[in-house]
Amino acid sequence: MPDQQPNPLWHPFADMGAVDGNRFVVTRGEGSYVWDDAGRRYFDASASLWYSNLGHGRPEITRAVTEQLEKLDAYNLFGGVANEPALKLASRLSELAPVPGSKVFLGSGGGDMVDTAVKIARSYFVHTGRPDKTHVISRTQGYHGTHGFGTAAAGIPANAEGWGPPAADFSQVPYDNAAALEEEILRVGPERVAAFFCEPVIGAGGVLLPPDGYIEEVAAICRKHEVLFVADCVICAWGRLGTWYGIDRWSVQPDLVTTAKGVTSGTIPLGVLLAAPHVAEPFFTGRPGAPILRHGATYAGHPVACAAANATLDIYERDDIIPRGKALEKPLADALSGAVGHPAVAEVRAGLGFLAAVELAPDLLAADPGAPGRLHKFLLEEGVIVRSLGKGMAVSPPLVAEEAELDLLAAAVPRALDRLL
Ligand code: PLP
Repeated sequence: MPDQQPNPLWHPFADMGAVDGNRFVVTRGEGSYVWDDAGRRYFDASASLWYSNLGHGRPEITRAVTEQLEKLDAYNLFGGVANEPALKLASRLSELAPVPGSKVFLGSGGGDMVDTAVKIARSYFVHTGRPDKTHVISRTQGYHGTHGFGTAAAGIPANAEGWGPPAADFSQVPYDNAAALEEEILRVGPERVAAFFCEPVIGAGGVLLPPDGYIEEVAAICRKHEVLFVADCVICAWGRLGTWYGIDRWSVQPDLVTTAKGVTSGTIPLGVLLAAPHVAEPFFTGRPGAPILRHGATYAGHPVACAAANATLDIYERDDIIPRGKALEKPLADALSGAVGHPAVAEVRAGLGFLAAVELAPDLLAADPGAPGRLHKFLLEEGVIVRSLGKGMAVSPPLVAEEAELDLLAAAVPRALDRLL
């Protein structure tokens, strides 16, 4: 790591005592690679934060953004004001939605959409005569961003604690047990439960794949008890699981879908929420005087972000990128097979979508809680960027990564693991 001057920049999720003066400065990106300020090249097996699905430096996106900046560089969406890229994007997103006729609410990122989903869920029940349905259930190890409600729904304890009293009416169930969801709904009382938040594959919490039948079961339990099924597909959408929205890998009908990240291939911040028609209905009565959702961000439907998203969707469609998330799931699992059975490793989780995790052995973690950080550093020295997790590492390469590039990962990971011992 280079020696640098301290800098006032305060990083998310960072030990600033260690970071300040030792930053990893990324200066350039092209395809699946980025370069640091010393000119070293890295294969970005993390796609930054699970989002550079098309890799870096897409001229089509650059052109669309530049043209939009020249035409209309900013405008809001409040009240009845619209802009052309937002209208076009909403139509496209709704057409691709797992539930036909879904309405589209736009925002500035994933956490923004999670908090929006909680408010829409509660508001939906207010406007359909069930104002007591306010309780939200999420899953252990789940990650739903760092805004207020997302923090209350956090299944990673360290992310939920230390902020004073959490928002009321939230609870959690074990991430891999569908029966536990029904028990919790019955414990709280179905007449009090508004929503269940579910990442199809839990991402930041460790790439935890759902057990067979889990997604169908929880969707059915939600339906039975009139609890809105919220698929948090901030990571899983945009081809990461080989489908447009991630949740559409299963034959279920989510009431709400939250997503962000890959909708612009990470180029410009944008959050997307889909509301199934019956959820949106109280607000879309077709005549003036409907209930107003008094909620929305300054940058909702920002024309430049929407232009970036439209250009990204064009490439996803033109180059048939979305199915790659499924086609590459086995090659990715194969690339990590060198970690399976390694003495430093407890488990390799892969095989559903183009994302995977390596969890380190418990004795190694007990002896050295900094082992994930060291693994990350050893892989950087190998020219590979992975995402460091509490118990190991995750990978989610750009969907445009070539199988040959996965060979880099395959070679580097066992060598880096060896150095942990
Ligand atoms: N939900 C999930 C499933 C996520 O993975 C994330 C971020 O990684 C979020 C919500 C929060 O998104 P953002 O960081 O854009 O607020």
